This record gives sequence, C-alpha cells and structure tokens, in this order.
Amino acid sequence: MADIIKLLPDHVANQIAAGEVVQRPASVVKELLENAIDAGASTIKLIVKGGGKTLIQVIDDGKGMSETDARLSFERHATSKIQKAEDLFNLATKGFRGEALASIAAIAHVEMQTKIESVELGTHLKIEGSRVIFQELVVVPKGTSMAVKNLFFNIPARRNFLKSDTVELRHITDEFHRVALAHPQIAFQYYVNGGELFGLPQGNLRQRIVHIFGSKTNQKLVPVGEETQVVKISGFINKPEFLKKSRGEQFFFVNDRFIKNPYLHHAVVAAFEGLIKPGYHPGYFLYLQVNPAAIDINIHPTKTEVKFDDEHTLYAILRSTIKHSLGQFSVIPGLDFETDQNLETPYAYKDKNAQLPKVAVDADFNPFVESGGTGTLARPRQHAKIRAGEKSWEGLYVGMESKMGNASDFSSVRFESDTITGSFFEEQDDEKQALATTFQLRRKYIVTSIKSGMVVIDQSRAHQRVLYEKFLRQSTIKQAVSQQLLFPLVLPFSKSDSAILSDIKDSLKGVGFDFKVFNEDTVEITGVPLLVPESEVSMVLDQLIADCQQEVAGESFSQTDILSKTLAKSLSVKTGEVLEQDSQLALVNDLFACKEPMVSPFNKPVYITITEKDIDKKFI
Ligand code: ADP
Ligand code: MG
Repeated sequence: MADIIKLLPDHVANQIAAGEVVQRPASVVKELLENAIDAGASTIKLIVKGGGKTLIQVIDDGKGMSETDARLSFERHATSKIQKAEDLFNLATKGFRGEALASIAAIAHVEMQTKIESVELGTHLKIEGSRVIFQELVVVPKGTSMAVKNLFFNIPARRNFLKSDTVELRHITDEFHRVALAHPQIAFQYYVNGGELFGLPQGNLRQRIVHIFGSKTNQKLVPVGEETQVVKISGFINKPEFLKKSRGEQFFFVNDRFIKNPYLHHAVVAAFEGLIKPGYHPGYFLYLQVNPAAIDINIHPTKTEVKFDDEHTLYAILRSTIKHSLGQFSVIPGLDFETDQNLETPYAYKDKNAQLPKVAVDADFNPFVESGGTGTLARPRQHAKIRAGEKSWEGLYVGMESKMGNASDFSSVRFESDTITGSFFEEQDDEKQALATTFQLRRKYIVTSIKSGMVVIDQSRAHQRVLYEKFLRQSTIKQAVSQQLLFPLVLPFSKSDSAILSDIKDSLKGVGFDFKVFNEDTVEITGVPLLVPESEVSMVLDQLIADCQQEVAGESFSQTDILSKTLAKSLSVKTGEVLEQDSQLALVNDLFACKEPMVSPFNKPVYITITEKDIDKKFI
C-alpha cells in the first residue's frame, strides 16, 4: 500500500496553530503588547480600528530587530527568549513559544517596520497569509511597529464568528487594562478609530490605577504589602465601603503577568469576610512576585492560568496580608453600614442601635399614622421610592405610607393586576379574604392559599419578574415614564464605563433615562425612570455596566433585555425585607398578571405550589 502520511506545509500548520493563539482581535493585541514589553520599550502606542478587525497596530521604542531577526521572527518556534528547555523554568519574559508572530502572519496582513540602535536603516517587511510580499530598507527610529490588518481574511468562518466591533473593542480594552496595570513604569497611548481613549504617563501603580479607572478611585485604595520567603505581595484593595456589584476591578498579577485564579480570589474574599454585603464584590489590584521556578505558566495556551507549587501557603499568606491591611488602615472600625438595611448582614445587626436616632428624626415620619408593622421605619431609602402616580409601587415598597389614605388605597395597589382572571385565587371576589390569606415567611417568601392548596412565592424573584416585564413593556411601547431631575446628576465614570453607557444610550432613554452630556469620564443625567430613586441611580448604572461587560462573553440578548433585567435586579425587594400585608398582596397580584409568572428574568423558579393532597399525604 502506498504511503499516505505527509507533512503539512508550513502555512497550513501555521494557520492551524493560529487558531490556538489568536481567538479574537484582543489576542493579537495581547501578543503584540507583550512583545513590545519584552523588547524593553518605555513607550507603547496601541492603535485600533474597526474593533481590531480592520487594524491593530502596536508601536514601541524597544530594542528593535536586525534585518535577519526581522525575517526570522515570523518563523514558527522562532524566539529569542529561551534557548533550552530548562529556561522554561526561569522565565523573565512574557513570550517564549515563538508562535505568536508566525500565527498572526498566517491569518492576517502584517506589516512590520523595525530598527535596532546600531544600524542606520531599518527593515520594512510585509507578509500576507504567511507569504512574504516584500522586504526593504526603511528610515525609521529605533523600535518596532507592527500593523495587523484584516484579521482572519483567509478564514471567513472565523471572521464571521467575531462579535460586533463594540464587543471586540471591549475585549481589547480589557486586555489593554491588564497589560497597562502590570507595567505602570511604561507609558501607554491607546487610540481607537482615530481618537485617543487612554494616554497613560509613566507613573507608580496608584497613579496608573487612577488614570485608568478615574479620579474617584483614589480614595478607595488601601495599600497591601507583605514579603515572605515564598512570595512578595504588593498592590491595593478597595475599601469595603466601595464594594461594587460588578466583578470588574479584580486583578491578580503574578510576576507582572495578569492571571485568573479562583482559589486566590477566594483567599481575598475570605479576608473580607463579614465586610461584604451579599451580592457585592471586593475590588483588588494584587501583585505577587514568586520565584519563576515555583510556577508553571505553560498550563494554558492563552496563559491566564498559572499553577503554583504551593497554593495553600499562598492562600494563607494572601488572606492574612489583606486582613492585616484592612485592620491597619482602620478600615474595619470605620465601617459605615448606615445605608445597609439588609437584615441578613451581621454588621447591620451590629450597627442597629446606632441607627435608632435616625428614625427619631425621620422627616417623613407621621405620628398620626398607625405604624402597623415591623421594620419599615428603619428603611430610609424606601421613602425615596414614593412617587406620585405609582400607587402600586408605593404599596409594595412603603407599606406604612400606603395606609395613610382611605380604603380606596387598597384598590389602587392593585392597578397592575387588572388582567387577573379570578380563577387562581380562592374567593377572588372578596379582597379582605384574599388579604387574610397572605403572609410572609422568614422575610423571604410570601405564602398564600389557592383553590387547590397553597403557593409559596419567592418575594425577590417575584418582584424581579414584575419589574422586568414592566420595563420591557415600557421600552417596547416607548412610553417610559421619566421624572426630570431638578438638578442634573453628574456622575463620574471611567472612560471605558462611560463608553459602555454611551453605547446603550438609546436603550437607556427607552426606559426613561435622560442625558445631557456624555463626557469622557462624567455623565450628566437629567431624567431617571420613575421607579428609580435618584439615590440609587449610580448603583443601578454600575450594575448595568457590569452586566453589559459580562454579556460580552455570554449570549447576545437585546440591550433592552439586559437593561430591564438589571433594573429589575437592582430595584426589586430583597430577601430579608419586611413587606406589609397589602404590599404582599399587591406583589402577588402583580406577579400573576405577568406573562411568565413561573420564572424570574434569570430563569429561576418564582413560586411553588403545594396541593392539599400533598399536605394530606404528610398526615398519613
Ligand atoms: P515569543 O514572544 O514567544 O518569543 P513571538 O512570535 O511573539 O514569539 O516573537 C518572536 C520573536 O520576535 C521574539 O522572540 C523577539 O525576538 C522578536 N520580536 C517580536 N516582537 C518584537 C518587538 N516588538 N521588538 C523586538 N523584537 C520583537
Ligand atoms: Mg511574543
């Protein structure tokens, strides 16, 4: 039989290898930036057009390449960074595989200009799909410029697979942040479609963080420092009072390389134990220096995972170091959870006494009103939620106030529920009877009886469903009710956050936000949706940005959908909140007026039913 095994031609092998190295434009950015850093650059310029699909260019003032090296650098396994296998265990550079340039050149149009110090003229080289188009001499300063155009031009399937320019750009910006944070001593400029997105001067780490994430970041940072035989830890954590709902600002660097490590992340979270409200996340910028021989970076092709020899020790050191910082900078005694009313948080209990005077001087307190229940007084933020014309929500949120009026209040809390058919509830025609049959269980569930038995409703998920459908409806029929603010709200945002908001501006307007100006790092808001209290606008937008960022990786829902989900999540009543009985009823009614009452917007079950038969069985 004839021999059938053949060696793949180089350009085919390179294309296959490229699949591993280059997943999307952001991977090219990472490789090129890392090469520039390895070349000892002190200033690096990144230019991106069309979400990186049209152009990615990195210009550095590093050591450059000789004419021969310039050509060789595009060969597979061509690297100047290691010579023998043992070098792998003592890496001081970012690259070492010698694959990046060969891979990129196999699937794009690449143009390189480079010059080393000691020669007059540099090299200009053009390669398309691994084919050298020309190589000539050129007058350029010392350093290297790499321009990568038309990524995946010869693999249409991969090119079609790329997300929108906005999404790809977000990935690139994330990558840029990681590299820029790992190297504050290098100046970076980042241009997108002709405009400068970031100009980062050389500086220390704190300055770099502030330049990237905005001036409001400065006051949040608590320094962290520890040096042991195993590891040197430096960097910053965010003060607990600035915890965010997003996981955006969580960075680990090991030997100046950005990594993801769930185990070490857990160590940080553990150090914050008792200081984190549920649903919030600590922000951190942590730099670990370890002996290169003690880690294996080779474990993952895109190299964001690292394997440590002794993870347990590292975990313990990291946790105690952060605890120490939190203590040393008086973060713990200074904690102020005044606005945190979540009764599940131990610290809220701790501070309970201190909150009492606040209640006594509550301007909204009406001594002539029967208080009628527990807990609601201690929720100052609820007062902000009262809005004229929103009786239903008044009823839901404020319990006490809804009792201020006359009996007709009760019918008004049901205005969302007109569509109820009446078959679900026992004695639907007798409201008093229905009222008598709801009660709240453990500040978490609403229990009510139905013809066949009982329903147990998760209050938070139910409210999410109600709000979600409401926002969807409003933005679809373009009838969002907006309340104009007396004084525009000026909120600081990082450049990339404000870019995200600007992207979804139209959808935001759809649900009732109004904007005056979008600056690079501030957003001026003149109107907010009726259901969003002014005091929570900032939190809601932060959450929205976080959700949009996560959506990048996930399925592409419509913007309106993401927005409605975020608003529903942020504004819904939470587990632990006491609901007055008429609020409970309003919620139940509103829930069953929804299109899909069974599941929350996040696909979690909203209620369960227990039939009389089920109960009977238990008594056998
Ligand atoms: P690696 O970085 O793993 O060595 P690459 O394919 O990224 O592999 O680069 C191949 C070689 O080309 C590098 O080892 C380096 O010698 C050279 N090189 C690449 N980019 C630059 C640059 N910006 N400046 C100087 N030399 C570079
Ligand atoms: Mg490289």
